[in-house]
Amino acid sequence: MAERPYIVGNWKMNGTRAMLSEARAIDRAAQRYMKAEVAVAPPYTLIHAVHREAEQIGIGAQDCHAGEDGAHTGDISASMVADAGAKFVILGHSERRADHRETNKQINAKIESALEAGLRIILCCGETLKTRDEGDAVDFVLKQLKASLPKIEDAAERLTVAYEPVWAIGTGKTATPKDIEEMHKAIRGLLDETYGEETSAQVRILYGGSVKPDNAKEILSLPEVGGALVGGASLSAESFLGIVVAA
Ligand code: PGA
Repeated sequence: MAERPYIVGNWKMNGTRAMLSEARAIDRAAQRYMKAEVAVAPPYTLIHAVHREAEQIGIGAQDCHAGEDGAHTGDISASMVADAGAKFVILGHSERRADHRETNKQINAKIESALEAGLRIILCCGETLKTRDEGDAVDFVLKQLKASLPKIEDAAERLTVAYEPVWAIGTGKTATPKDIEEMHKAIRGLLDETYGEETSAQVRILYGGSVKPDNAKEILSLPEVGGALVGGASLSAESFLGIVVAA
């Protein structure tokens, strides 16, 4: 597994230019604190501006359209986000699956386009509370991944998986260490099967869902947890850096 934990802030639909000062503060801290690899995914409107401000942190997008540039009003292609300065894109987030009815097949198509545009991928997966209560969480997540993982072997080098239980996102609830461990092991098993152990070892598996400075250390110390995807707590440099330092 990659050594440095990967701590990624997902700003979601938050942030105007006033947020650039937070990005600068995060970047300055990341320059001093090299134990973690730090990245943020601002909204599309801020990608270029954050890219210009930042020297150390990775910049990503929160989605992209599948396919070539063209007549798709309001959409943004993978090559456009790459041109704006993004180095990675978050795909398959549960909010996009819910708000835009994105299917695993569509997510797979977006992954292929993003890889073609030279981007790295953070592929999100996660079950609802109903699925977890029914005891089907692991099967559900593995099915999501099987249907969306890129098949090309060298894609694994640019792939990160983020396990985010839907019921833990923005709710203040986190999965138990036992549940996180079980899920991350199952995901690792699937990656081993798909890409072979050596290649799979390069893919980090992040946990996401109400990660905060006070629970980050415990979560990040679990086996197979290679970092965190952080929503709410990434909107202020202070709380986000609290997580970075805990890593
Ligand atoms: P949260 O969001 O940290 O606010 O729970 C995580 C995510 O959706 O990536």
